Amino acid sequence: MPTLTDVEWIFVVLAALYLGESLVWVRPGVVAFVSRWGAIGSSRRCRRLTGNEQGDLVLAGLLPFDVTVLSEPLPLSMGRQGVVAFVAAAPLQRDRRPQSGEYFAWDELRKATAKGRNVNVGDRWLCTNRTERIAAHLAAKLRELADCQPDDRTQRIEAWRAEQFDSARVRKRIRTWEEATVAVRIGATLLSCWLGLGVMLYLGWLPLAPDGWIVAIYLAIFFVLWWATALAALLGHRYLYPRDRLGRLKQVLYSLLSPAVPLRLADALGRELLEFEHPLAVSAALDSPEQFRSVAQRVIRDAIYPQMPEEPVELTEAAHQVMHESRQADLQHLQRLLAVREVSFDPLLAPPTTEQSEAQSYCPRCHSDFLLPLSHCDACGSRPTVAYSSHA
Ligand SMILES: [Zn+2]
Repeated sequence: MPTLTDVEWIFVVLAALYLGESLVWVRPGVVAFVSRWGAIGSSRRCRRLTGNEQGDLVLAGLLPFDVTVLSEPLPLSMGRQGVVAFVAAAPLQRDRRPQSGEYFAWDELRKATAKGRNVNVGDRWLCTNRTERIAAHLAAKLRELADCQPDDRTQRIEAWRAEQFDSARVRKRIRTWEEATVAVRIGATLLSCWLGLGVMLYLGWLPLAPDGWIVAIYLAIFFVLWWATALAALLGHRYLYPRDRLGRLKQVLYSLLSPAVPLRLADALGRELLEFEHPLAVSAALDSPEQFRSVAQRVIRDAIYPQMPEEPVELTEAAHQVMHESRQADLQHLQRLLAVREVSFDPLLAPPTTEQSEAQSYCPRCHSDFLLPLSHCDACGSRPTVAYSSHA
């Protein structure tokens, strides 16, 4: 095995740190939209490298100007009477995330507080969120709704729900990210080119000998680019998340530790751009018509035929009413998104085109084939399958 010099080790460690910064841990319930070659308009579902029940490790776009947009629909069913910590749908997910299924009347939600990434009501767990900032915002929003008069609250819930399905809002947030990170993306691109030049200089591929002066000038420019990019990212953070001072401090400290961090900061700044915007709204904002149609197909199948059970067991009448109201309202918003992109609803629920001639039925959620005309799909919580002959 060849032994590496100190300088070679620095380049290897930097490359490893860069790769580390390009990995994203995606928790259950979260959908990652990843840009490739900086083109966010042709985002892809990202590549899963490994994972467990706590989440998936996925590879983000690898260029300094790529971005990862994370979308996590609100994990609560909201209604006039209260909130149920359960949503049947799990859009673009294999499994539903853990949910308590408990019911909370609006009066109780005055006590909603954030503790780390969790939101609790008194000492009862309501839900876990992607970040502490999102948890704090959700707790504040629930307290604000709990304090409203019932009629006013109903209107505000509907306005908040509409925001979650608003693709124009997603597009606006992404434009804001683009504005906030222009300097970061330019700085990071120059810095990565400068590092590449450093490797070439070291390997003797340039018509320059890496003597004392050249190295001093090289390092001076390297540090200027590193810290200027970190400064641009600090300003970008302040523009995007003005109230998150602690997050800003952490970002600055990390950026000073390693030059690989500012190289990926434009991406990192995009990962918390959205709060509870639904994946179909994000797809409507970013994807081509074909990609949108394929996302819509999976989202609608899952909304109509979610993983079983569709409701928590032992629901009170009030909680059942909340679940029903919330699911109907969500479905209307999904249908509106389809209408805007001129995608018809019914063909999305068409049976799969099976390649297995002996298949007798299929799962309406995940489209797996089954050999019996009446069976159950274990992957979808034992959902009954639909016979192909029923469409004949
Ligand atoms: Zn299934």
